[in-house]
Amino acid sequence: MKVLVLNCGSSSLKYQFIDMDNENVLAKGLCERIGIDGFLKHSPAGKEEFAADMPMKNHTDAIKYVMDALMDKNHGVIADINEINAVGHRVVHGGEYFSSSVVITDEVIKAIEDCIPLAPLHNPPNLIGIKAVEEIMPGVKQVAVFDTAFHQTMPEKSYLYALPYEYYEKYKVRRYGFHGTSHKFVSSEAASALGKDIGGLKIITCHLGNGASICAVDGGKSVDTTMGFTPLEGLAMGTRSGDIDPAIISFLEEKENLDTKQVENILNKKSGVLGVSGVSSDFRDVEAAADKGDKRAIAALDVYYYKVAKYVGAYAAAMNGVDAIVFTAGLGENSKSCRERVCAYLSYLGVKIDNEKNSVRGKLTVISSGDSKVKVLLIPTNEELVIARDTKSLLG
Ligand code: AMP
Repeated sequence: MKVLVLNCGSSSLKYQFIDMDNENVLAKGLCERIGIDGFLKHSPAGKEEFAADMPMKNHTDAIKYVMDALMDKNHGVIADINEINAVGHRVVHGGEYFSSSVVITDEVIKAIEDCIPLAPLHNPPNLIGIKAVEEIMPGVKQVAVFDTAFHQTMPEKSYLYALPYEYYEKYKVRRYGFHGTSHKFVSSEAASALGKDIGGLKIITCHLGNGASICAVDGGKSVDTTMGFTPLEGLAMGTRSGDIDPAIISFLEEKENLDTKQVENILNKKSGVLGVSGVSSDFRDVEAAADKGDKRAIAALDVYYYKVAKYVGAYAAAMNGVDAIVFTAGLGENSKSCRERVCAYLSYLGVKIDNEKNSVRGKLTVISSGDSKVKVLLIPTNEELVIARDTKSLLG
């Protein structure tokens, strides 16, 4: 079975085409600047990469170019569109409707539409992608894999905000959590790597990329996570503030003569390590500036790592223990100093890192030393593979 995995953003589309008989990626790529002008980058396995400007007025155009690229006689990997057996979509918000992946039907589309107020920037392009596939490949089965689904096991005490209850009842204002596909994948990989049944493990997964969240996984189930009603809550991130005192919003509105949308934009796009450092949202740039003694870059990293360590401690308390801590995503997989600095806070838990093992990048590795009370692992995440696996298991 060959599965096309689509991740449709507001003006972009990422894809992977995976042969699920052996889980080999046959091709991957991305379309950017959809609705503006359009650019396609296509990387077929074992063949030369193809990149070109292409006019894309919407996602339907973009998906048509992806199909053409997949079937092209030079850089294609299939001869006929019918070789695409199924399509799996990343869908950001499934609200309280979905606690696992589902085959897309009219009812599912309606439920994803109902969740638009909860993810106004993300669910609409996800739906456009689903409808574009219906148009271009009528009859091909599609599956939706939700960022929120894994966290639907969170107990009420984790997901309820201490707000008037009527807002939960009327508008479903509650904590949802995101990056669920990644947290689920790396926690289950951790259990396999340790040769243990996940049912008996308490794992804290740290997805530290441009967006970042931590999840407490008890017996294979998410019991708490740092992102909440939106992906703005929790850790400081590349450009997002994470937790702040909500009173700061009206204070800034008044002082800077801004409206709520403008402050929200600052919290989402101009805060985090970018906001504090003034250097960049990319940790490589911030680390380089900090190494040269830039005080704000040093402060940005201090704030960032302190908060990661605080949440790890909080989740060890929430689960009354922790057997394994996992680092994943861009920063977690690639930055030795990130893992070193977070773990330096955790000696009280008996966490000990092996310096040599921690020098590894982007490869599944147990980086704790033999006498560490808690296992620490670096596990590359692979959300596309999870989407393809769920698609196969629902349709295969
Ligand atoms: P992601 O969102 O998972 O793709 O992660 C992207 C982020 O990972 C980038 O913005 C970088 O800040 C960070 N990153 C990637 N490679 C490294 C590295 N070698 N050292 C430090 N940070 C890195």
